[in-house]
Amino acid sequence: MLERIKKLAASYREETVTLRRHFHAHPELSWEETATTEKIVETLKGLGYHIVKVGFGGTKSGVVAELKGGHGGKCVALRADIDALPLQEENDVPYKSKAGGVMHACGHDSHAAMLLGAAKILAEIKDELHGTIRLIFQPAEESGLRPGAKIMVEEGVLEGVDVISGLHIWAPEPAGKIVYRSGPFMAAADGWYLTIQGKGGHGSAPEISVDPTIAAANIVLNLQAMMAREVSARETAVLSVGVIKAGDTAFNIIPDTVKMNGTVRTFRPEIQDHVEEALRRTVEGACAMGRCTFNLEYKRFLPATINDHDTTMLLKATCEELFGAENVEESPLIMGSEDFSYFQREIPGAFFFVGGGNPEKGCNSPHHHPKFSVDEDAFPVGVAALAGFAWTWLEKNK
Ligand SMILES: [Zn+2]
Ligand SMILES: [Zn+2]
Repeated sequence: MLERIKKLAASYREETVTLRRHFHAHPELSWEETATTEKIVETLKGLGYHIVKVGFGGTKSGVVAELKGGHGGKCVALRADIDALPLQEENDVPYKSKAGGVMHACGHDSHAAMLLGAAKILAEIKDELHGTIRLIFQPAEESGLRPGAKIMVEEGVLEGVDVISGLHIWAPEPAGKIVYRSGPFMAAADGWYLTIQGKGGHGSAPEISVDPTIAAANIVLNLQAMMAREVSARETAVLSVGVIKAGDTAFNIIPDTVKMNGTVRTFRPEIQDHVEEALRRTVEGACAMGRCTFNLEYKRFLPATINDHDTTMLLKATCEELFGAENVEESPLIMGSEDFSYFQREIPGAFFFVGGGNPEKGCNSPHHHPKFSVDEDAFPVGVAALAGFAWTWLEKNK
């Protein structure tokens, strides 16, 4: 069957590319994916899928569809995210974004297209499937504060689902390579927002002011000392300062406040808890020493993406059979984050990458870059991997 799936994926290449280019030309931001959703619904209906629900989070974005196999059995979910980014595209291609300032710069256009390609294969082999396929086309992966996966889980998309898989096209890897990892894979993403309150005054007379820049400077350095001394060398964690704002008027004014924002990336909840506590303690100490007060908000945006071992090993074996072991690689830990993690907090899941890079075709810009592009030759690989995983998992668990 895997051989057949691979052939079907190859024969659907043009259709998958056409769909991807359609999505690419008509990108929509998080929670605004109405036309994208309509196009997906129309395609799925044409393939004979039962549309379970359209519209999530009070919007018209996102769709869940189902296909019952010829035999009863368990339920496999496959997920694709479908949103674009607020970015002006700089690629000069016939299918360039028609929406000013919006671009599919993370490759979610190809995710939607590849999942539709897999949907077509699964519809074709439906009579032989032992179970049900649930397709999740998810809005708002990039939204940060309101992740689509979290909302979809809250609205019940995983009810009755036994296992889930999904992929990300991955520019740093050569087109067509499969990259997997068991256990922790992508980091948890937290954000912190700090305001240090001092007392402004003349730059020539700091003794009658309370200078918040001193506390801020101590915090920048002490946070890195804290990370180096309080997080074990065996762990993987990073803390970065992304914003420091202190005055913007004159060279001789001590500012009243300093605003700082940053991010924390971790893989284990114990480390995440420790860093949050130590960050607060470091800020408290530096502000007490500098006679400042402060306000600190710490937000946990996305949990770590943690792949279930057995599910990942099955995915790996399936891909090795499909594409040869030389095309399937283990990934290092990735410090970026993915809201797929919300699905994995509920049920076992395997999230993986499909290489999409190819410098010879100009596909060598990083994700979220105005020149981001992917090698479409990777699509049959992603399509076959998704359909192959669903088939194999249902066979092994019937
Ligand atoms: Zn992204
Ligand atoms: Zn993405």
